[in-house]
Amino acid sequence: MKAFSYFTKDNEPRIGIETPEGLFNFTYIWQFFKDIKNFPQAPDLNFLQIMVEMGYFSNQTFMEVTELVREYRSLDDLRIREDVRYTVPISRPQKILCIGRNYRAHAAEWNSDVPEKPLFFSKLPSTLLPHQGLIRIPAGIGRVDHEIELAVVIGKQGAKISEEDAMEYVAGYSIAIDVTARDMQREDIKKGHPWTLAKGMDTFCPMGPYLIPADALAEPHNLDLELKVNGVTKQKANTRDMIFKIPTLISYISRFITFQPGDIILTGTPEGTLPIEPGDVLEATIKDLGTLNNSVIRG
Ligand code: MG
Repeated sequence: MKAFSYFTKDNEPRIGIETPEGLFNFTYIWQFFKDIKNFPQAPDLNFLQIMVEMGYFSNQTFMEVTELVREYRSLDDLRIREDVRYTVPISRPQKILCIGRNYRAHAAEWNSDVPEKPLFFSKLPSTLLPHQGLIRIPAGIGRVDHEIELAVVIGKQGAKISEEDAMEYVAGYSIAIDVTARDMQREDIKKGHPWTLAKGMDTFCPMGPYLIPADALAEPHNLDLELKVNGVTKQKANTRDMIFKIPTLISYISRFITFQPGDIILTGTPEGTLPIEPGDVLEATIKDLGTLNNSVIRG
């Protein structure tokens, strides 16, 4: 089951699901479920972030709710028939934490040491950009690079989480591009300045199109990633090559920072990060997670 957040042509927020039988409006399926179960006090589910925050976001919930409603009525009129206008799966995370140099070959291509403990920084939540949104590169900032990354979304509050328990805190997975103003970042590193602006401009974190529930993905550490620019492959790797795996990242970060549901971790990028230019078309694919498409403009 793939889940996504979208807007109808009347700009109403909805949750959609992609199943082998097609696309369905889960916001309405949930309404029928509430009626059948006589459960009116349950919240409306218009955004995936609400599902994550309520602790309802799982493959099991989607399956059980959909199957129960199907016993009472046909789902045919709940199909999504319009072109889907995607929005980001998590629209207002409290934080986006990103791991630097988490693939050996990427550290090597920048002559950087492999860190002894996870190196992390943050991107502003205002960087988020949906599937099919436009990456805007301001004039005069020099080289800007793409970085395809597996995005992990946290499902419940937690601090001082052990590696053994860490995966219980994962709600789901998505695709992200950590867009980086590389010339600015290199200048910042040289001067010992923070990278906040180089990583934090508007539209510098495309994410989506789907959020895949953690219980629908057997092994997040064996996923092929591929990023193409204008149809040409630039980055190609597998998440098994991450230096610090997801339980280590969650456990390490949570020693210092309390996770909240909806927080996002970008798990680092493999080798092949290269410049993008206005007019480029990016396609970021992670096996079982779909393909994230974004074009680049000057802006
Ligand atoms: Mg990155």
